[in-house]
Amino acid sequence: MTQTLITSNGTLITQSIDHIKKHQPKDGYYLAFSGGKDSIVCYDLLEKAGVDFEAHHAITSIDPKEVGIFLRKYYPEVERHHPTYKGEPTNFYKLVSMKGLPNRHVRWCCAYLKEVGGTGRTVVTGVRRAESNKRSGRLVYQKFGNKNILNPIVDWKDNDVWDLIHDNELPYPSLYDNGHDRIGCILCPLMCVHKRIRDYYEHPAHVRALERAIEIFLSTRPESGLWNWGSTPKEIILSWVTSTPTTDESGQCNLEGVTSE
Ligand code: SF4
Repeated sequence: MTQTLITSNGTLITQSIDHIKKHQPKDGYYLAFSGGKDSIVCYDLLEKAGVDFEAHHAITSIDPKEVGIFLRKYYPEVERHHPTYKGEPTNFYKLVSMKGLPNRHVRWCCAYLKEVGGTGRTVVTGVRRAESNKRSGRLVYQKFGNKNILNPIVDWKDNDVWDLIHDNELPYPSLYDNGHDRIGCILCPLMCVHKRIRDYYEHPAHVRALERAIEIFLSTRPESGLWNWGSTPKEIILSWVTSTPTTDESGQCNLEGVTSE
């Protein structure tokens, strides 16, 4: 990507670039790049700041296909990482067949699919306080385990993000023009229920793969509590999809724990 113009959000952009320059690590930043709007803005700000960085994309295996198409077309230089489990290649469905379905409280999939890479590095994320109440206390810079985390756009609102994207004519995934305000894993249990129901009907192949994974899980774990959710994999998935709260008190989905949109 080439350096782009600054035409709006002047103060916020300056502030974010100052954060980036202030915390610049010797080995360069590790940008967690999902392909969503916030990570697009972070990528642009790192370029504007003129610092060293590499962008990394964790392939979750349950991202909408439009994200992969977008990345290959506009960000071919981003390093894409396939998920592994105990050193072997894996994907979400294989993990479900071993571990069952994730939920808001036991979201094991983030550890295997999202929170990978960046160990010992300073990781840049697009987390913003305005995204949810749970994120409202996030700091610009903080330690998290063996990573340093920089959230350079922590103070930005949705419209600030879109202003920068539009003013600089940055490309973004087509999903945003088709009614999606966030982009992330299909049927993520952290999403609010109406978005999960939308995903259920928009991604039938994903639902079928999930049914097969649940069949395998139940055949190896017949004592599983999953049977409480329904008498067939299809029923279990429907109960799982519709069991999350509609919204949190801020009126937004509670997306705490998602690395960066
Ligand atoms: S974002 Fe949601 S579906 Fe994706 S890995 Fe995390 S909890 Fe699982």
